[in-house]
Amino acid sequence: MKPAVALEGITQVYVTDSGASLAIDRISFSVAPGEFVSLVGPSGCGKTTVLSTIAGLIQPTQGTVKLFGEKVESPSEKVGYMLQQDYLFPWRTIWQNLMIGLELTGRLTGPHKEYASHLLEEIGLAGTEQLYPSQLSGGMRQRVALARTLATEPEVLLLDEPFSALDYQTKLQLEELLSHTLSIRGKTALLVTHDISEAVAMSDRVLIMGRNPGTIRREVVIPHEIREAAPLKAREHPQFHPLFHQIWRELESEERQEGEPDENGE
Ligand code: ADP
Ligand code: MG
Repeated sequence: MKPAVALEGITQVYVTDSGASLAIDRISFSVAPGEFVSLVGPSGCGKTTVLSTIAGLIQPTQGTVKLFGEKVESPSEKVGYMLQQDYLFPWRTIWQNLMIGLELTGRLTGPHKEYASHLLEEIGLAGTEQLYPSQLSGGMRQRVALARTLATEPEVLLLDEPFSALDYQTKLQLEELLSHTLSIRGKTALLVTHDISEAVAMSDRVLIMGRNPGTIRREVVIPHEIREAAPLKAREHPQFHPLFHQIWRELESEERQEGEPDENGE
């Protein structure tokens, strides 16, 4: 089976007034259909750059991104992108917000609207259709953003720190909801997170990135028992803490090496 997402030697150079900088350097990895992969790494290591490249929002300086074997050259309907900020339009009702993706892709049809309505119910927000975003809590708004992302039925979800602005309790609830919602639909997901325990609890695999330039330094495969468990249960598993500490140490050693001079004393 073709991978849902495949990155082959992706390099991104950003050119600004102060010169050119190598943001990510020859990143290659793939994600199987239905797999959940997390990207962790220090701020500025290129996590968002990787997601935006997969989304077709930026063109890589070098390398190729493929979705189900097809080269990405522009944004695709196969991809849903969800960000830390919910980006709901304040002047639109919840229902109108939910419809945006369908409007933009010319799919405001009966079955699609029905599916969106079903999603709203599934995330526990039936009855909020006529409310405005300002009338909902941060957690509720982020749930609407999730339903909106799913409403266009993307095969691949790109999630850029979607829960980092939420309080801990709400974040745990949304992890459960996201994990359940994606697994029953067999969706593929790539999650960027600062939270190591979130990465371990949600993922099949965790990719650890380092910066200057951004590369993938290591891959940690999450054992079956933890993968199969819902995120809250996964956190109680005896193997959870050893994995957490392994990833924590890897990230810490990345930070340390970064501060040290290299072999040439530079
Ligand atoms: P992360 O999401 O891991 O924090 P980013 O992908 O946002 O990292 O950024 C990686 C590097 O590229 C950083 O050094 C950042 O300053 C730089 N960068 C990101 N976007 C741009 C841009 N549009 N123009 C110039 N530099 C950028
Ligand atoms: Mg980022």
